[in-house]
Amino acid sequence: MRGFKTFAGAAAASAILGFSAAAFAQAAAPQPDPPKPAAATEHEMKAKEIAGKDSFLQNLAANGYWCMSPAAGVKFRQVSSMPAHPVQAFDNLYIVGTYYVSAYILKTSAGLIVWDTLNNEKEAKEILVPGMEQFGLKPQDIKLVILTHGHADHYGGAKYLQDTYHVPIALSEADWAFMANTAATRPNSPPPPTKDRVLTDGQKITLGDTTVEVVLTPGHTPATVSSIVTVKEKSLPHVMALWGGTAYPATMEALGQMRTSIQHFKERAKAAGASGILNTHGFFDKINERVLSRGTYTSENPLIIGSARVQGSLDIYAECLEAQAAWYTAMGRK
Ligand SMILES: [Zn+2]
Repeated sequence: MRGFKTFAGAAAASAILGFSAAAFAQAAAPQPDPPKPAAATEHEMKAKEIAGKDSFLQNLAANGYWCMSPAAGVKFRQVSSMPAHPVQAFDNLYIVGTYYVSAYILKTSAGLIVWDTLNNEKEAKEILVPGMEQFGLKPQDIKLVILTHGHADHYGGAKYLQDTYHVPIALSEADWAFMANTAATRPNSPPPPTKDRVLTDGQKITLGDTTVEVVLTPGHTPATVSSIVTVKEKSLPHVMALWGGTAYPATMEALGQMRTSIQHFKERAKAAGASGILNTHGFFDKINERVLSRGTYTSENPLIIGSARVQGSLDIYAECLEAQAAWYTAMGRK
């Protein structure tokens, strides 16, 4: 059996040493909450009803980020940009990054697929690559980088990987344009990679023994890239639904797109039999901590939550989106 390493000591040493100034690229400007609208409370109650007696879902509905007020959400997203210890989540899936943002590395029989590239060249060079190397994963073996979307905290290291290792970079058409525009209009943005591959909804990408299904989920950005990917756990396949854009967007219009996308993703996750859900901001669902809590490879994998919880999580996400919409209405946001 392959080694199962979690570097728990490093985790303790590097936890919460500082707070990042790198906020979400599209985070709403800090603005005090208006009085809580009744409709927000109603949707929070509905989210709790969906959770029922399931403690995992209860935690998402009551204590998680989703149903927070906009101001509480902004505060919640102020997270340390210190390196998080790299973890092996499955036989063939690794998570490397900071406490703020993560990259996923999938090992196939014909090389590696990487989702996202951290904030910038420095993080790609000093956190992503060394983190991969701790597991014997070589950046020279990356065959494809899939960017979940065109925000700097996800594409920032892509140009470095493209220039250094000649790795093809893939993103949706609308987010290639969005990324170029973001880089051109925001003075401190990292340089984007050169436009390479374009991802489309329903596209299947096969590398060696593994196929990834692309699901476009607009809302967080114009065409956020989510993925359905089969990983292995004790050599058995499990399908993971990787949601590409975590935070609710700041406008009603984009929130409307995300509303549709959540249902689209939910259907695709169900059809694929997804039994786990991943995202690239680990602080939202404490994914690194959950992997670490596992302790040994022989114990159960905490990321396999079952199809019903995946569906329930997305129902709660959708219900909390309605609570956000109620807040936005009260705030006069369009
Ligand atoms: Zn983003």
